[in-house]
Amino acid sequence: MSQNKTKKGSLEVICGPMFSGKSEELIRRLRRAEIAQQNVSVFKHAIDDRYNIENVTSHNGTKLPAHATDNGSHLLAKVQTKKYTVVGIDEVQFYTHDIISTICALVEKGARVIVAGLDMDYRGVPFGPMPTLLAIADSVTKLKAICTECGDDAHFSQLLAGNDPAIEKDVQPILVAASDKFTARCRACHDTDIKFGNTKQNESLR
Ligand code: ADP
Ligand code: ZN
Repeated sequence: MSQNKTKKGSLEVICGPMFSGKSEELIRRLRRAEIAQQNVSVFKHAIDDRYNIENVTSHNGTKLPAHATDNGSHLLAKVQTKKYTVVGIDEVQFYTHDIISTICALVEKGARVIVAGLDMDYRGVPFGPMPTLLAIADSVTKLKAICTECGDDAHFSQLLAGNDPAIEKDVQPILVAASDKFTARCRACHDTDIKFGNTKQNESLR
């Protein structure tokens, strides 16, 4: 091994549907880094104001202070890369593809970057920059929620209109709604009129 080898960082991706515990797991890893007195910076996408724009918040109530930004270069400017820099980003699926180069730059500078995000939107279509992030990650954790229909493991987010599954034409692809508009469903119980890979209509979604 070369004596001059520069130490690089790493990318960990935590993914899954809503309610699968992504924020919980991100908070758990970041808290451990804080206990180890590492230099931790936490971000969340500014579009998500479900709870508090200054916190990463899990559905079970645990939270961690975070900078809210929708911009990769602002995020990069806020991180002082020192020894043992750890960067956490929640709701990473909402960023534009620019976030990929931001994350790669941090990893090149030696940061341990941990991101959490929805792998698919409510239709089952891969979400924003997630496919690329999953491909380039050092480690991937795909979490499951519990299907609210049958109790099996769930890896889809179901969008509801009232108590019923929402119909595609009524909604926008990227939709940040109150979490009571979504529920977790297994593949058998996931109900949508458009599914990734099923119909010709899907060609336009890829
Ligand atoms: P995510 O970030 O993936 O949306 P959170 O970390 O915010 O998930 O929330 C996970 C918590 O949500 C669980 O620990 C549990 O308390 C709660 N929860 C509510 N509904 C469900 C469900 N259908 N399946 C699993 N956990 C659920
Ligand atoms: Zn089910």
